Amino acid sequence: MPWEEGDLHGRHVAAASSASASIEWDLVWPCSERVRVRDYTCDCQPVFYELCQAGGQRYIRRTTRKGGRVVVEESVRTAASKTDILWTMLLHGDAR
Ligand SMILES: [Zn+2]
Repeated sequence: MPWEEGDLHGRHVAAASSASASIEWDLVWPCSERVRVRDYTCDCQPVFYELCQAGGQRYIRRTTRKGGRVVVEESVRTAASKTDILWTMLLHGDAR
């Protein structure tokens, strides 16, 4: 990941490897639920990701900007440890 201290950019997701696992994404609409964002990737990209915590569960939110529209999707909510593994895979290009 080309990230250096002092860089104005956040983290960028690595290009997907050919063997990457596929994450199931569900379309969501913004709601008033209290969500804590624990980590995120750089939003200079048309697609960026956030690692979210809501209650005792964790999931990944994917935001896609396309022609002035914003699409927000979420992965399945599951135990923190499972989502953390998925998050690491995503950053390394091993899951999409
Ligand atoms: Zn960036």
